Amino acid sequence: MPTAIVVINAGSSSIKFSVFVEWGAELRLQVRGQIERLFTAPRFVAKGVDGAVVGEQAWGEGQRLGHDGALDFLLGFLRERSGGMNLAGVGHRVVHGGLEYAQPVRVDPRVLAALEKYVPLAPLHQPHNLAPIRRLLERAPDVPQVACFDTAFHRTNADLTQMFGLPYAMFEQGVRRYGFHGLSYEYIASVLPRHSARAAAGRTIVLHLGNGASMCALHGCRSVASSMGFTAVDGLMMGTRTGNLDPGVVLYLMDQRGMDARAIEKLLYNESGLLGISAISSDMRTLLDSSEPRARLAIDLYCYRIRRELGSLAAALGGVDALVFTAGIGENSAPIRARVLDDAAWLGIERDTTANDGGGPLLTTAASRVLGLALPTNEELMIATHTRTVIRAQ
Ligand code: ADP
Repeated sequence: MPTAIVVINAGSSSIKFSVFVEWGAELRLQVRGQIERLFTAPRFVAKGVDGAVVGEQAWGEGQRLGHDGALDFLLGFLRERSGGMNLAGVGHRVVHGGLEYAQPVRVDPRVLAALEKYVPLAPLHQPHNLAPIRRLLERAPDVPQVACFDTAFHRTNADLTQMFGLPYAMFEQGVRRYGFHGLSYEYIASVLPRHSARAAAGRTIVLHLGNGASMCALHGCRSVASSMGFTAVDGLMMGTRTGNLDPGVVLYLMDQRGMDARAIEKLLYNESGLLGISAISSDMRTLLDSSEPRARLAIDLYCYRIRRELGSLAAALGGVDALVFTAGIGENSAPIRARVLDDAAWLGIERDTTANDGGGPLLTTAASRVLGLALPTNEELMIATHTRTVIRAQ
C-alpha cells in the first residue's frame, strides 16, 4: 500500500497543504492546495501536479470555518481521496522552536505545551501553526505528527551572532536573534552540492525573496548568520513589513503619536514595506509593471536594503564564494536579480545577462569571482522529508 505524508502550513487566515507519496527513496508531490479566507468567505482548492483541479469548494461571504473547521474539512477530503493509501504522518511548519528545538520533533501533548510557550515570541504565527496540531491530536491521536521549525536551522549561529547589545540576562532569557525561513535555507543547503562543490563547501549568501524576505550566510552549508532577528520583521524590507528599524522610532510612535502596541504591530507588519512606500501594492510583479514614481521608489529601497544587508553578511563571512536567489522574487524576477547582482559587482560578481534573463540556474559569467545561482526552494519537501525521518526513527 503506498505511503503518504501530508504537510500543513497554517497561517492566520489560510491553511496550505501538500500530499507527498513515497516512491522508492523519493517523496513525490501528488496534491497541493489550500483553504483560504478562513474567517470571511472560505474557499478550498486542491490541484494535482499537472495543475488540474482535483477538489474545490466555496463557502459564502460572511461564513466562517476557522482553523478547526478547516482542518476537519481537510481530513474529510484526504480520507476520501486516499483510498488504499497509508497515511504515515503529518508534518507541520512551525515558526518558532525557541532554544530547545534545533531539530524537527514528534509532537505529543507534552511537546505541544512546550511549543505553546513560544507563542509570545511569535504571536502572529505560532498560534496558527499550532492550531491544526492540537485539533489533529484530538481527532486522530494515532496519526504521527512532526513539527518542523523555521528557527531550527539557525541554531548553529554563534552566541555572538545571536546577541543584542541589551543586558546579558535578557540574552539568557531568550531575547536574541533567532533567524527564520530556516526550512527554505535548509532545502537550498541540501541541493547546493549538486550545483557547485565550491558554493557548498565555501561562503554562500542565500537570498530568500518572497512576500517575507531574508538573507542567510552559509559556511559549509551551515547557517552562520541571517538578516532576521528576534522576530520575522527584522532585516530586509518586505512586501508589507518594514525590515530593520531604529527602535527609537517605536518609542517616538508611542510617546508622540499615542500609538499602542497593536497599532504599531499593524504598521510594522501589515502597512509598511513595498506596500507602505508605493501605496500601490505589496506584490513585486504589480510594482515592476507600474510606471508610478512611488512604485519605482519602493523597488529602489527594496534593492538598496538588500545591498546593505549583503555587505553586512559578506563581512560576517569574511568574503563570499556564491550568491543564491530563491523564493517568488528570487526565482522569477530577472530585473530584481540583475540589480542585486550589479550592486554586488564590488564583491567580484559579474552577471551573465542572457543566463539571468533565461532564469538560470547559473546567473554569472565564467570570469565572475563569485558564483550567482537561482534555485527554487521547496519548504514542503523539506518538511515531508523530516517527517518521514522522524517517524522512521521512532
Ligand atoms: P510567500 O512568501 O507568500 O511564499 P512567494 O515566495 O510566493 O511568497 O513570493 C511572492 C512574491 O514573488 C510576490 O511579491 C510576487 O510578486 C513575486 N513574484 C512571483 N513571480 C514573479 C515574477 N515573475 N516577477 C517578479 N516577482 C514575482
